[in-house]
Amino acid sequence: MTKPKTIVVKIGSALLANQDLLTPRYGFLQRLMEDIAHLRSQDWNVIVCSSGSVALGLRIIGETPQSAGVSDKQAAAACGMPLLLNAYKQVGHEFGFDIAQVLLTLGDFEDHRRFLNTRNTVHRLLSSGIMPIVNENDTITTEEIRVGDNDRLAAKVAQMVGASDFIILTGVDGLYDRNPDDPEAKFVPEVHDVNDYMDATKGKSTLGTGGMETKLQAANMAQEAGVTTWIAQGEADRPLSRVLEGTGRATKFFPNPEPMSGWDSWITNRLQMAGSLVVSETVATELAEVNRPIRRVDVISADGDFTRGDVLHIYDSNGVERARGLSDFTSEELRVMINNPETEAEQLLGYRTKGEIIRHNNLVMLDTRHVLWDAPSSMSEG
Ligand code: GLU
Repeated sequence: MTKPKTIVVKIGSALLANQDLLTPRYGFLQRLMEDIAHLRSQDWNVIVCSSGSVALGLRIIGETPQSAGVSDKQAAAACGMPLLLNAYKQVGHEFGFDIAQVLLTLGDFEDHRRFLNTRNTVHRLLSSGIMPIVNENDTITTEEIRVGDNDRLAAKVAQMVGASDFIILTGVDGLYDRNPDDPEAKFVPEVHDVNDYMDATKGKSTLGTGGMETKLQAANMAQEAGVTTWIAQGEADRPLSRVLEGTGRATKFFPNPEPMSGWDSWITNRLQMAGSLVVSETVATELAEVNRPIRRVDVISADGDFTRGDVLHIYDSNGVERARGLSDFTSEELRVMINNPETEAEQLLGYRTKGEIIRHNNLVMLDTRHVLWDAPSSMSEG
């Protein structure tokens, strides 16, 4: 028997909720779940990352996408999530399979123990043939602890479970080289480096949180983890099979042929960084050429309040981010060492240490293709 392949499917709010009535679009769900049932019969493990809880909850709490503030959206998510899951559950039963709810927050990805725990649970569900439906736990997350959009959340899930494929279903048929409303806009069938298109992607959807920009960031994250990614039209017939069979229009993002290991992508694909270090241009170049740690003497300055095991950005003296890595020291310890270069670390810290700030196996150089992004967008902008 061949090993089942795993696919993560991200479904945007506009596909799941009727724009005017803010009620579930059962017709869409029916078509989607029929296609998922077909994939499951072909030995695919399917994980859905579904938006729609906020959109479906707004009407229940008497708000609209325009009127709702942050706490309204948090309350809406609490009302909409059971409605959304119930819709999936009913339709799933028609096609003979069960679904399960997996609500995550940023910390479930950022804390390695929680990351492994979440991954185990998702695999456990899949081993019983149950389809996990993942969403961000919007009700309890505030801006500092949320991923912010389901495009990147889904990419992180794809990376977490080692998916082979990732499809982002949306209201357009893929990526265009400029705003698709522009008559000159050209469809982009294939992308190797998303940096070529980042400028063409400003603008957001009205119901969900993401836009084409977060989709490209998500695609980049998945590509770097070796996952083949597509952006495709959700309204099409057999929206997933047609993409996988290559018979429908979609933008394909090719996986990096030399993907990062799970550990390296966990270090690199962080949405929250605890602090940063500056090293000289020479040290940065050396780090890229030879496997070596960042030592105490390499650090020109350190910023932020971090502890052992936190992930740091490593900048060169020109302000370019060159690497990310796990700190072996707290920010306080590091500053004491930087400020007293002549004194032995042992004398300063009170314990023996080699003074390797970031060990080489906890250090990942950033590929030129790696897209860097700012903090997650605020829910209030949604
Ligand atoms: N988590 C949000 C929801 O369920 C959607 C976020 C997004 O659209 O990216 O409504």
